[in-house]
Amino acid sequence: MFDASQPARPGVLHIVATPIGNLRDLSQRALDVLKTADIVAAEDTRTTQGLLNVHQIQAGKLTPLHDHNEQAAAARLIEALRAGQSVAYVSDAGTPGISDPGARLVNAVRAAGFEITPIPGPSAVATALSVAGIEGAWLFYGFLPAKPGARRKALQELATRPDALVFYEAPHRIEETIDDLLAILGGERSILFARELTKKFEQLHACPLAEAPAWLAADDNHRRGEFVLVVAAPAAQTDDNDKESREARRVLEILLEELPLKQAAHLAARLTGARKNALYDLALTLKEEK
Ligand code: SAM
Repeated sequence: MFDASQPARPGVLHIVATPIGNLRDLSQRALDVLKTADIVAAEDTRTTQGLLNVHQIQAGKLTPLHDHNEQAAAARLIEALRAGQSVAYVSDAGTPGISDPGARLVNAVRAAGFEITPIPGPSAVATALSVAGIEGAWLFYGFLPAKPGARRKALQELATRPDALVFYEAPHRIEETIDDLLAILGGERSILFARELTKKFEQLHACPLAEAPAWLAADDNHRRGEFVLVVAAPAAQTDDNDKESREARRVLEILLEELPLKQAAHLAARLTGARKNALYDLALTLKEEK
């Protein structure tokens, strides 16, 4: 029988993803590693102790590693790796290093020459995208700056990008962020509110940005909990295409008044950059309409 059990390996840093709400979303490998690691470093040891208790895990030594002690704690973990111990790192929820501590630890451990291995699992960004229906490229921004000026500047830079945009947001800032998204990105792009994912009050709500403030205001619950915001890509490309095809049609109509169909289509294509075959077909239709 396939033995799936994979204990933590000595001298290796295991970066372990944990649930973003539903505690049953902890993977079998994450359980194996947390059960067997000599040291489990955690963003908040109390939060992680709670998770371990639920899964009846007697973990190795729990030690804190957060934004404020990441460098010093990393140095201690490197010493442990050097001594041949197995180390796991978990943030409070989701995947470490994604709007969470972990990057400095990973860099320090890599620079010290030790192996690092990811134990994948939940992340709010991937969870939201899995139900967002985004087909093209997307840009994960994480948390926008808290200060209004910096937030608006960041959004102005993002507004020109052709991608869908993914943000994290906390309940106390959701309204001002939505107001700025609407003011800077315009009302037409659609937004998905992915709220309280995997939790009891999980909610997905999609609407045009123009309607987002009213939806937030409609119910206190709409402003509660944790949010991923997925803003669809701008339709600007399509608008440009529309403009170009309107221009090609206008030129074609003028040329058709003076020239035979084939020549008019050929010249219109050269003048506007539109495809010759498409203009030929359009010219046929226009002739038939006359
Ligand atoms: N490392 C985590 C991850 O991989 O998703 C993110 C940690 S970041 C400090 C916390 C933010 O992630 C929240 O403010 C929220 O924007 C988002 N988030 C986390 N859990 C969520 C959930 N269950 N539903 C919606 N958003 C969530």
